[in-house]
Amino acid sequence: MTVLDAFDLDGQTAIVTGGNRGIGRAIANALAEAGANVVVANRDGESGEAAAEEIADATGADTLAAECDVTDEDAVAATVEATVERFGGIDVLVNNAGIVVHEAIETMSLDEWSTVIETNLTGTFICSRAAGREMMDDDGGVILNVSSMSAFIANYPQRQVAYNASKAGLEGFKNQLASEWAEYGIRVNNLAPGYVATDNADQGAQVAENAVETWEGEMLMDEMATPEMLGPTAVYLTSDASAYMTGETVVLDGGYTVR
Ligand code: NDP
Repeated sequence: MTVLDAFDLDGQTAIVTGGNRGIGRAIANALAEAGANVVVANRDGESGEAAAEEIADATGADTLAAECDVTDEDAVAATVEATVERFGGIDVLVNNAGIVVHEAIETMSLDEWSTVIETNLTGTFICSRAAGREMMDDDGGVILNVSSMSAFIANYPQRQVAYNASKAGLEGFKNQLASEWAEYGIRVNNLAPGYVATDNADQGAQVAENAVETWEGEMLMDEMATPEMLGPTAVYLTSDASAYMTGETVVLDGGYTVR
């Protein structure tokens, strides 16, 4: 066995929430390239189906699209059931689905706050609980939450307090879940990106003047990441390459938070 064999996901089954576009799509593609069967789980059925097909065509992996809102317990249960029926179990769950609302706290509505917390934090709880039950009954598994450097810093110039609270919540969630589920052979880690060029970052760029210039001025790498840059780290964190790692966060931010 060589060191690269530890990164092999051949025969593993992974659910990637928000796998239809942005970071989730790049992670879904990377896991498929590493050999995993991939389930693309997101709200928009059409783009989910298209992504699942394109990933299968590009990588030769078996894929499945599941129309699923991560805040809907029944939809998540149905996604888990469909995955087990098709592939026999779940080895990897990537909790990637996430949204941001750019609004100052003094003018933010309770609805705006709640939608962000429900999607980013409660959705991660609902998906982890459903997939974790399957992993427990099997040989264990891996949960990877896409957190953010925003769990640890204040972003500027845009306003986004609910988002940062939700991502900080994912840090506590990951610590406690890793501790509670270690006995079942389930590892839980977070991947915390900095700014990545997706729809999510575009939204931030549009609400504040010179946002991109301000962000890039803080990065040691001088420019935003592409979603594909997260793929190798996601493969590391979901494969046996990280077999001794649990309860940790890998920050991948082009040197933003070090400055
Ligand atoms: P995008 O806006 O490009 O994509 C968001 C994804 O989440 C889509 O696939 C969307 O699919 C899915 N999604 C949103 N809400 C739900 C829901 N309720 N149920 C199921 N799926 C949902 O964002 P990114 O790719 O940038 O973000 C992905 C993750 O990475 C998020 O958790 C984000 O917080 C995090 N992140 C992003 C950074 C960035 O700079 N871009 C930096 C750090 C972290 P659909 O609409 O079809 O449901």
